[in-house]
Amino acid sequence: MVILSIVSYLLVREYRNTEEDAKRSAMNIVQLINRDIRNTFSIYDSVLINVIDLLQTQILETLPAQTRQSLLFDRTNETPSSAGFFVLDAHGKLVARSQPGFSAPANASQQPWFNTHRNSTSDELLISPPQLAHTDTPEWIVFLSRRLSTADGTFAGVVVGQLKVSYFQNLFRGLDIGPNGNISLLNTDGILMLQYPATSKVHIGQDLSQAPNFRRFLNERYGSFIAMSGIYHHERLFNFAQVHDLPIIVVVAVAASSIFSNWQHTALLIGSVTLLLCLGLFWLTWLLIRELNLRLNAERDLAALASTDPLTGLANRRTLDRALDLEWRRAQRSGNPVSLIMIDIDHFKAFNDAYGHQAGDEAIRQVSSVIKAHVRRPADLTARYGGEEFVVVLTETEAAGTRLLCEKIRLAVEQMPPVLPEHKRLTISLGSCTRYARSGETQDVLLSAADKALYQAKKAGRNRVVNINETGLNAVKPPLV
Ligand code: GH3
Ligand code: MG
Ligand code: MG
Repeated sequence: MVILSIVSYLLVREYRNTEEDAKRSAMNIVQLINRDIRNTFSIYDSVLINVIDLLQTQILETLPAQTRQSLLFDRTNETPSSAGFFVLDAHGKLVARSQPGFSAPANASQQPWFNTHRNSTSDELLISPPQLAHTDTPEWIVFLSRRLSTADGTFAGVVVGQLKVSYFQNLFRGLDIGPNGNISLLNTDGILMLQYPATSKVHIGQDLSQAPNFRRFLNERYGSFIAMSGIYHHERLFNFAQVHDLPIIVVVAVAASSIFSNWQHTALLIGSVTLLLCLGLFWLTWLLIRELNLRLNAERDLAALASTDPLTGLANRRTLDRALDLEWRRAQRSGNPVSLIMIDIDHFKAFNDAYGHQAGDEAIRQVSSVIKAHVRRPADLTARYGGEEFVVVLTETEAAGTRLLCEKIRLAVEQMPPVLPEHKRLTISLGSCTRYARSGETQDVLLSAADKALYQAKKAGRNRVVNINETGLNAVKPPLV
């Protein structure tokens, strides 16, 4: 999990860095184009202003036509990619032009920009959408125009400069924006002024104002975002900025696939290696867990073997010694009584001799399960003490309760069916002892007292219970059989 988290974090960080780098370099291109367009348009505008200033100077009228012409359009040579300048009067009639050979648009007075100037008193620079001009060869032209006013502010005509759209094309040539990327110029009405490189999907003059991405360009004016292109139908990184003071938006769009292709290769490589590494780790961990489980089970089996008696499944002598020691010390601390019952099968040697050792084993097993069935509290312990002898340790149990339990066990063994129908029934003798553990005493006190009680029970005729508690001997007579 840690390896996967670290690798994922690094890959995400690398993805962000790649995106940031792409944005930064695309925005640099946007800024460069932006600056160039602003400079070019400001040169055009200063020519227009110069022409207006000269026209409004009365001195011009007095000069010879040749001088007037060269003075008026003196600065037009400074403009790059110019298709000429001209002056129209209030009726749209051509009154002056920068080059003698060239003709102004035939229906100039019908042009939207002409009407805008005529109907408004504003003397702002107007930039028209691109229009296809049919001169010698068809050429997309943008008209830059300013209003000519008389001294009292009435409309006196329009001064116009024509800029070839091919100018932008030359500007963008040589810029590397990757495969499937392009640079676009739009005006704020959403009309495409140019797209480089040209594609068949869009054309100059197309209205893109309804495209969702265009609304973002218009509203945010400057920025970058990744979005699906409505025209090209793939994800693109759009970087855009409106040219300062001009109704023109520069957009540099880069295909997301080309930005992230290197990252994708790296991610695929690192991802697969990490995955293989993790799978390897999983496999090793699984092997380790399996080995540990096997070992744990083996240890558990060994521990069980070492602590139980194989014939009866009861605790063996070793477990009894340990448990009794523990219980005795706990009783010393708590002050609660501890009871111990010693059980011995009566005349078992004779049983063995009569029916054989196997039958004897089965008898031991059956007696042990009867005893076990009566000792139910979790803290109590039933153990095989040796041969046909058993010990039961009862914690926090008073003498009366112990006696009662002894009697129940004795009765249950007595009523036990014979191992085989032809066998004699078995009986047991029980000696029990209940004591309060005193400091300085060991559990041997309990064992020897119970042993003594058992001896007493045997001596008294077997198939009975003898209890020795703190106050001395207390034999319980067997019930009538
Ligand atoms: P008592 O009533 O005095 O207890 O008489 P007893 O015959 O039971 O006397 P004792 O305890 O001396 O005899 C124990 C006999 O139990 C000896 C042996 O034949 C038998 N025995 C001991 N351990 C096993 C065992 O694991 N399997 C079998 N089948 N017999 C065993
Ligand atoms: Mg015995
Ligand atoms: Mg015996």
